[in-house]
Amino acid sequence: AFNFCAGPAALPTAVLNRAQSELPDWHSTGMSIMEMSHRSKDFVGAADKAEADLRSLLGIPSNYKVLFLQGGATLQFSAVPLNLLGAGQTADYIDTGIWAQGAIKEAQRYGNVNIAATSGADHYHHVPAQSTWNLTPDAAYVHYTPNETIGGLQYDFIPEVEAPLVADFSSSILSEPLDVSKFGLIYAGAQKNIGPAGLTLVIVREDLIGKAQSTIPSLLDYAKQANSGSMINTPPTFGWYLAGLVFEWLIEQGGLTAMQKLNQEKATLLYDYIDRSGFYANPINPANRSKMNVPFTLADSSLEKAFLAESTAAGLLNLAGHRSVGGMRASLYNAVPLEAVQALVAFMQDFAKRNG
Ligand code: PLP
Repeated sequence: AFNFCAGPAALPTAVLNRAQSELPDWHSTGMSIMEMSHRSKDFVGAADKAEADLRSLLGIPSNYKVLFLQGGATLQFSAVPLNLLGAGQTADYIDTGIWAQGAIKEAQRYGNVNIAATSGADHYHHVPAQSTWNLTPDAAYVHYTPNETIGGLQYDFIPEVEAPLVADFSSSILSEPLDVSKFGLIYAGAQKNIGPAGLTLVIVREDLIGKAQSTIPSLLDYAKQANSGSMINTPPTFGWYLAGLVFEWLIEQGGLTAMQKLNQEKATLLYDYIDRSGFYANPINPANRSKMNVPFTLADSSLEKAFLAESTAAGLLNLAGHRSVGGMRASLYNAVPLEAVQALVAFMQDFAKRNG
């Protein structure tokens, strides 16, 4: 079977097999890594290796801290303003859909938020060109959502702004090379391209930390987390370990350049078929189509139930669109092989022939 779930998403089979073989007795310690103290030499070694591999994959400069946290990307919607938005300051947000709005709503609880651009008028079918953004002089930061997981909308550029750039990379991190030096802060829930749910990654430039509002919980304070190696309390040890296995797997695959090539190939195969099918449709401006999440509709929406039942029976799993938008969605994260997309397109062709 092939799993097209948007999250928690497919993990590489090789990683699952390795985790299974290591599960009862990690490196002949007589224990599972799940049963180990997070402060033990063994666990700290595995955690440090995971961070080093991530740094090498993304080329993270040495003046950035990498934090392995909990609470999901959603808690970062609060942590970002609580750490970076000083009294009287304004933060700029770009509204490109449901996840950008999630970040905006939380930030508005803590300070001044300026929605510098939105593509709501066109149902979020394009990314607003940066030349149209109404940025605040001296903004505390500019927040954007590089990939809208539900809408299937992806930026085809990294914004060039004066204020620190903050990005919710939950659904596109590690899918292609990234120039981390262009960002003040990157965050991502793990459950798409990193590992299991329960782990949240934050990559933050050192000069931005240490200015948090004094009343915030210590667990949300980037400076305190950085100073304690993300171990103020018990971190999500199993997720951290598994993320480490995913990073090793990515390095073995040839790193993020190899992932970019594969992800482009998968996305092109599916979008090209949708466009020429005359039966399926994707409404997103072609330059902004997501390579990770491909929503599509059928010519006749009354066929959706049959499409889902038959695709599931054919081993093509989790193709239903998000409950808020309906339709179909195929998520093509790193762990989804090219053969999965080939099988999906073959099924879609056959279904269209029988029902068109
Ligand atoms: N941001 C984006 C872009 C997402 O795709 C998601 C979840 O799918 C979230 C935020 C919320 O993440 P979490 O469930 O880790 O809080």
